[in-house]
Amino acid sequence: MKAHDGMYIGGEWRAAAGTDAIEVVDPANEQIIAHVPAGTAEDVDAAVRAARAALPAWVATAPAERAARIATLRDVLVARKGEIAATVTAELGAPLPFSQAVHAGVPILVAGSYAGLAASYAFEEKVGNSTVYAEPVGVVGAITPWNYPLHQIVAKVAPALAAGCTIVLKPAEDTPLTAQLFAEAVHEAGIPAGVFNLVTGLGPVAGQALAEHDGVDLVSFTGSTAVGKQIGATAGAAVKRVALELGGKSANVILPSADLAKAVGVGVANVMGNSGQTCSAWTRMLVHSSQYDEAVALAAEAAAKYGDRIGPLVNAKQHARVRGYIEQGVAEGARLVAGGPEAPREQGYFVSPTVFADVTPEMTIAQEEIFGPVVSLIRYEDEDDALRIANGTVYGLAGAVWAGDDAEAVAFARRMDTGQVDINGGRFNPLAPFGGYKQSGVGRELGSHGLAEYLQTKSLQF
Ligand code: NAP
Ligand code: MG
Repeated sequence: MKAHDGMYIGGEWRAAAGTDAIEVVDPANEQIIAHVPAGTAEDVDAAVRAARAALPAWVATAPAERAARIATLRDVLVARKGEIAATVTAELGAPLPFSQAVHAGVPILVAGSYAGLAASYAFEEKVGNSTVYAEPVGVVGAITPWNYPLHQIVAKVAPALAAGCTIVLKPAEDTPLTAQLFAEAVHEAGIPAGVFNLVTGLGPVAGQALAEHDGVDLVSFTGSTAVGKQIGATAGAAVKRVALELGGKSANVILPSADLAKAVGVGVANVMGNSGQTCSAWTRMLVHSSQYDEAVALAAEAAAKYGDRIGPLVNAKQHARVRGYIEQGVAEGARLVAGGPEAPREQGYFVSPTVFADVTPEMTIAQEEIFGPVVSLIRYEDEDDALRIANGTVYGLAGAVWAGDDAEAVAFARRMDTGQVDINGGRFNPLAPFGGYKQSGVGRELGSHGLAEYLQTKSLQF
């Protein structure tokens, strides 16, 4: 795998301030595939200065010009789609077809959507005797995780560019090669020097330096709730804007009138995709007691069929963590009906698609984000019971409702404390706002709501 030994700052690859490096590991075979520099506060400072220096000229560009740049960036991503998929597969471990369709495909859709929004968004409106302007917030510090490495970068950088902001990105230590490839694409797209900057490095070093930097106006973070709370506190203390996209423990609610086989099949696939490393995965399947045994059998069969198509988890730490959760589920009295804690292969950080039955709402595996291919089937007695269970975690990122008709599912979904719900297997919409209720986060990504995160408001009275 190709790796740069510098940081992308001010439109060029510059040597890092220090000499520390991060090993990039292929989680399918545990081999080291590359090294990238581990940035320090000094690198972050250089990148923030470059972003600040580039800000006035970028703010002054017409939205149509920014739209054209983002469209070119999207075209570069399209041209390099194969390389993107191969890179994500190498450092995250996702099976190649999934990397092609999702890890490369979705960011292309999202970049395209922001090329459109930059051109069409109302950055100016008349309100009575006032003109209200939506102006860029300034320099954005973006901190991203490894689970959808390019999507999470594009979901921040594309709207920031559309708004007229400049950016410093600190990507996850596990997936820096995808971030470097994105920096190359930005360069190739002719985005002016300093508008986008990349500092690879460790969270508590480079990430923290970025979140704390005085020259950053908005911190946009995606990752764990634990780190999100720290970042929120740091940003709050400095009166900085902050957007947090955090964990989830979403419910897949199957009402008795639903097509049970379809709801269970889609539900299991939703959790197993990306090896369960999806913050919005529907990891709790809620089934009426009259259909519970049938749902358990269907889920076990679906997980067994998934079998070998699953990729590894991202690293040894996540591998140990997820297997620990499976052991804890057994210890707390849940019944394994597929998979289990044993590693299915000698090499690589693999976990078998795992299904738990007889899970009660208060069990650890029903409350905490596992971030692995583990689905828990929970029994409910009536709709109010289902709603109480669905809403009974600290999270509220996503969910699904299945019923005989959409209206019945919608009525239930409107009572859920969560930011996104798929109705009877609804399709992905890159323009739909994505984000959390409760401890799943603050703010929204994607579409015009995602763009608004990067804007601040000024009103002139006449
Ligand atoms: P994480 O530590 O929250 O990582 C997210 C990003 O924040 C990474 O770029 C990370 O850098 C950085 N970071 C870590 N500590 C930081 C700090 N003190 N200040 C600033 N930035 C910091 O998540 P993780 O360790 O990769 O995964 C742990 C768990 O988080 C998972 O098991 C899962 O439950 C959850 N998670 C959720 C999402 C999501 O999309 N909601 C995504 C990933 C993980 P490093 O890469 O160097 O750590
Ligand atoms: Mg971490």
